[in-house]
Amino acid sequence: EWLSNKIAAGEVVERPSSVVKELLENAIDAGSTSIEVFLEEAGLTSIQVTDNGSGMDEEDALKSFSRHATSKISKEQDLFRIRTLGFRGEALASIASVSKINLKTSDGENSGIELEMEGGHVINMQPTAFRKGTDITVSQLFFNTPARLKYLKTIQTELGHSIDLLNRLALGNPDIAFKLVHNGQTLLQTNGRGNVQQVLAAIYGVHNAKKMVPFSGESHDYKVHGFATLPEVTRASKNYMSLFVNGRWVKHYLVQKAIVDAYHTYLPIERYPIVVLYIEGDPYLTDVNVHPAKHQVRLSKEPELLSLVEKSVREAIRGAIH
Ligand code: ADP
Ligand code: MG
Repeated sequence: EWLSNKIAAGEVVERPSSVVKELLENAIDAGSTSIEVFLEEAGLTSIQVTDNGSGMDEEDALKSFSRHATSKISKEQDLFRIRTLGFRGEALASIASVSKINLKTSDGENSGIELEMEGGHVINMQPTAFRKGTDITVSQLFFNTPARLKYLKTIQTELGHSIDLLNRLALGNPDIAFKLVHNGQTLLQTNGRGNVQQVLAAIYGVHNAKKMVPFSGESHDYKVHGFATLPEVTRASKNYMSLFVNGRWVKHYLVQKAIVDAYHTYLPIERYPIVVLYIEGDPYLTDVNVHPAKHQVRLSKEPELLSLVEKSVREAIRGAIH
């Protein structure tokens, strides 16, 4: 089993930000309203994620590291959700097989439990006083797979992946307070009060957030809303346009193009706005699983959606300029 975990780890755990992603998704799935991430050396030295979610009892804590031991797939009636889970109970087992882990957790009813693991093996387990929620620290990632270490880029690149991830999750979950700390320095902090403008200010700065105008619109099958910068605040990359379909971050070339088209002649050449766009529609219209890892999405009634996006953004920008 240890070997198959290590093989699976190669697929799940590509770099520090893949670990951050899995731990954050677990914290979100556990119903947390506050999640803090502490990275040392972009996560190569350690990754700590602290949440105030459901926590686990002793049995669940031990089970969580065995392969396919997901607590989520039992609710099999929700096929759509199961398909979005990605690694189906393999994440923690895979991460544990290539790192050292310290887990503290409590469900708030039983006393807490502390678990230490090394390369996938439990080396210590003891009761501990702990509030409801989970605190997991993954250190010395890839300590037993030196080949993997060689593929990693610079600290700055690896950190960039985790920052992008946190930004996306914060925009997608404005009801959750997120905090990202790197080598003792706070890089992102949101208040979890559901205010998208506060999240935008935390990510892009108060000054830029003030230059973003709200937009919204509705068609037969879709509802859209979000914020878009005035044409005076632009970026050289399209990556500052973040799209969410029913709360999930996605990439969609034509929707990005519809946003850019909405600015018509106002945008300087090769410059792009900062935008957050939330698309809501019947889940059956939005197949987010064309390729889960690449976040590509296939949308039905695409022309209807594209013109809705373009129109909503265009009206807001025109209204703000004139
Ligand atoms: P999956 O998320 O696909 O179920 P994981 O390997 O990521 O698989 O996690 C295994 C199980 O461990 C989860 O199903 C969940 O029951 C439990 N778990 C992991 N992280 C947390 C957490 N932060 N809070 C509560 N339970 C957790
Ligand atoms: Mg998971």
